[in-house]
Amino acid sequence: MVCHYGTDLKEMVETVERYTHHGKVADYIPALSKANPTDVGIAIFDGHDTCFSEGQHRKLFTLQSISKILTLALALMDHGEEVVFSKVGMEPTGDPFNSIAKLESHIPSKPLNPMINAGALAVSSLIKGSSNEEKLDRLLQFVRELSGNQSITYNAEVAKSEFDTADLNRSLSYFMKQHGVINGDVDVLLDFYTKQCAIEVDCEDLAKIGFALAHHGEHPDKNYSIIPFEIARLVKTFMVTCGMYNASGEFAIRVGIPAKSGVSGGIVGAVPGGIGIGLYGPALDDKGNSIAGMKLLELLSAKYHLSIF
Ligand code: GLN
Repeated sequence: MVCHYGTDLKEMVETVERYTHHGKVADYIPALSKANPTDVGIAIFDGHDTCFSEGQHRKLFTLQSISKILTLALALMDHGEEVVFSKVGMEPTGDPFNSIAKLESHIPSKPLNPMINAGALAVSSLIKGSSNEEKLDRLLQFVRELSGNQSITYNAEVAKSEFDTADLNRSLSYFMKQHGVINGDVDVLLDFYTKQCAIEVDCEDLAKIGFALAHHGEHPDKNYSIIPFEIARLVKTFMVTCGMYNASGEFAIRVGIPAKSGVSGGIVGAVPGGIGIGLYGPALDDKGNSIAGMKLLELLSAKYHLSIF
């Protein structure tokens, strides 16, 4: 099938490349600082083939916060809404993704939503499995099924680099343990969380994951749902309200596509009933979103009327 999205993509990537100079690669996880700040890549999946990709679309990068939508889906499939939302709320925070402030000021002290680090840590603590190895294996199988790529695994160097420096995430976890939001050993949770964040994909994998979410959890090559309809709907709604951290409001206005970003510079987009989009651009803005990726989505959305609003 010929894809009409292809025609302008090269030009759009060239247009956004200059924005990378205004951003900065994340370095609070030391291993991420090795990324090339001028890289930009995109892939679009329309359910037939990866119909168009441009730039550094085959470069591997780690999911980081993009993993939060996948663990949320898996935890909901494991336990259902009642259990999951007894541990984490549904409201945007307006604070940075790693903020601790609202954990104390918001009573009860459960995290406000699953897209901030505190909420994602609480969700990760719910993934079923008798050991971290088993939990990670289940998560990896889930990601492989959604992307159709059996070779996906995690980057041990990035996971270790984050584990060794994750004192803020440790603080969030200890605070939540004190208040009964999570149980168990904090470092065991951090071991799982840093490995989930270090799962490595390229733009094409992300575009396929986005497509599955866009189509109620269905994979184009399979005639069954990998994610139940209601859970896919719920995940996409969180992507709209909290997916770009404290830039989600402006992003909804400028782009209007359910999306989730990560500090490695990846963004996944899911146009309901339409395409899946995978982006990579490690130069970040001051809120931790890919500066070129955001701009590219803005151009795409305007050109092809992709906003859901
Ligand atoms: N692993 C990162 C962290 O916990 C994920 C954050 C992000 O991508 N915004 O800090």
